[in-house]
Amino acid sequence: MYKLLYLEGEEAERFIAKAEENERKYLNDHVCYPCGLPYLTEQQTKMHHVHTYHLGECAICGHEVPVTHKRNFNYLR
Ligand SMILES: [Zn+2]
Repeated sequence: MYKLLYLEGEEAERFIAKAEENERKYLNDHVCYPCGLPYLTEQQTKMHHVHTYHLGECAICGHEVPVTHKRNFNYLR
């Protein structure tokens, strides 16, 4: 059973923006340090790990910045 959803104007834009954000989060495995930081445990933030960063699109903020694999941030959980 399918339910059709009709959205217009601002509501449609918000819906699309949200869908794009979700797509980034699921398809992109790389995030920047400021976005990944909240997912670290308190103990992890005190340790100084060296992660490999490369320039790419952050899965959370969507900016073109140095990013690293989300495994370095507990897979964002
Ligand atoms: Zn980011």
